[in-house]
Amino acid sequence: MTGPTMPDDGEGVANLLHRIGQLVRSDEQDGDLYPAQWSALRYLARANRFSRNPMALTRYLGTTRGTTSQTLIALERKGYIRRLPSPLDKRSVTLELTEAGAAKLNADPIAQVADAVEQALGAETGKARELLSRLLAHLIALNDGRLFGQCHTCRHFRRGERAKTGELHTCGLLNVGLSDADSELICVEQER
Ligand code: SF4
Repeated sequence: MTGPTMPDDGEGVANLLHRIGQLVRSDEQDGDLYPAQWSALRYLARANRFSRNPMALTRYLGTTRGTTSQTLIALERKGYIRRLPSPLDKRSVTLELTEAGAAKLNADPIAQVADAVEQALGAETGKARELLSRLLAHLIALNDGRLFGQCHTCRHFRRGERAKTGELHTCGLLNVGLSDADSELICVEQER
């Protein structure tokens, strides 16, 4: 006996995405971290210096300040992150991965998902990424959220405009220098 057929439309895709999300989250339940804690660690590994703070993380995760605070307390207690005074804003803190946090990401369960994606989709992996990126951008726009895209794709990124402080590029919004490594990171202020 077969079950109901998955509709070949938006509802079908939404159900598939939901099911995939459940499977990924169940992999993330093994070990000493919860899914939200994995998400926060990944974010801190990829975010630039303007975005490694509790407020930006809350926006990225789409949660409340209270939930983010609990996540950060747990990660700090486990020795995976540390808080430092923010060099940009005295009232805020900068979050940083510790060595243990960076090492933890070497065992990130999302690597198994990445392998499965490549096995299942092969040469169509790039196309799937493009389609899902478009869907994500649309959903974020509907929710009035932020894209958190890579710095080099931002409309404020001035490639090759050397900063007074010596970096190769400049941020036209924040008026600071950016290195090649900075250009690869994600940013709370990024705009297409
Ligand atoms: S160029 Fe855009 S993404 Fe890069 S630091 Fe500036 S605001 Fe952020």
